[in-house]
Amino acid sequence: MSAPQVGVLALQGDTREHLAALEEAGAQARTVRRRAELDAVDALVIPGGESTAMSHLLREFELLEPLRARLADGMPAYGSCAGMILLASDIADAGVPGRQALPLGAIDMTVRRNAFGRQVDSFEEDVDFDGLDGTVHAVFIRAPWVERVGAGVEVLATAGGHPVAVRQGKMLATAFHPEVTGDRRVHKLFVDSL
Ligand code: GLN
Repeated sequence: MSAPQVGVLALQGDTREHLAALEEAGAQARTVRRRAELDAVDALVIPGGESTAMSHLLREFELLEPLRARLADGMPAYGSCAGMILLASDIADAGVPGRQALPLGAIDMTVRRNAFGRQVDSFEEDVDFDGLDGTVHAVFIRAPWVERVGAGVEVLATAGGHPVAVRQGKMLATAFHPEVTGDRRVHKLFVDSL
């Protein structure tokens, strides 16, 4: 079987790290900024960055509705941090009116933006991750947490009692950034599921 073509949404955020991580995990990775590029990929990664800025750019680039449609159609997706926020069906603390993070509705969950950030901006923690051996060194940067999950959503990891990694079918999301640590197991989990 040929390597899956996995796009990385490249409007804003840490795109490059995900491209490298995906290649190392066995995918053919490419950037997605246009509708035609979105149409051409088998799956999509939404990187960390700023979910309100990414939402604004999704509208500007006329990608918001096409992306929602592909996700509704079952295109697998993985979101880290800002990407987790966008994959949610509901966002708490979405931002000021006119400059809000817009939910893509791929995972039945409520995600609170900057949830850990109220206590501390960034931190690192070794978390147990369902399906992976040993712990994952998780880097949290103004990270969200998950406040509610629907019946079909599996919680794969928690931090401070809050879900920080979830999966619903072929949709995966982490509140932390595995793309920055050199540990490719989370990306491999995603790529191997395609
Ligand atoms: N706080 C950011 C947001 O709301 C996410 C931070 C990140 O992706 N590192 O989108």
